[in-house]
Amino acid sequence: MKDVATQPIVWPTEQAPVPHRNVWQAMGRGLRGRCPRCGEGKLFRAFLKTADHCTHCGQDFTGHRADDLPAYLVIVIVGHIVVPIALSVETNFAPAVALQLAIYLPITLLSSLLLLQPVKGAVVGLQWAFRMHGFDEAHPEKI
Ligand SMILES: [Zn+2]
Repeated sequence: MKDVATQPIVWPTEQAPVPHRNVWQAMGRGLRGRCPRCGEGKLFRAFLKTADHCTHCGQDFTGHRADDLPAYLVIVIVGHIVVPIALSVETNFAPAVALQLAIYLPITLLSSLLLLQPVKGAVVGLQWAFRMHGFDEAHPEKI
């Protein structure tokens, strides 16, 4: 078994101040599927697959760790829209269950699929702006 914790990671103490990254701008660019750094290159090479790097500025995207956060956020967003509507319609009109399912299930599925890529892009933009995970150039393993 390989022991991965033999050498502790030592962060350098003397380093130049890092330039500020605008969080909202980076998230907005990611939301539109663009590179959080330059806003020009494409962030995705497939529906939910991020590109390896930006085609415009060369920013490396392989260090992002969006994992399941975009899916959780989409569930929260869609749930907070569809559930109150469903409860309101059921309380006030009480239509047939089959009719409600024929309306709510496609709306839920479609809105989830439409939101998933933009939300993942925003999460990657957030990680880039906060220099999280692989987006920190000052990490000892990248120097
Ligand atoms: Zn770029």
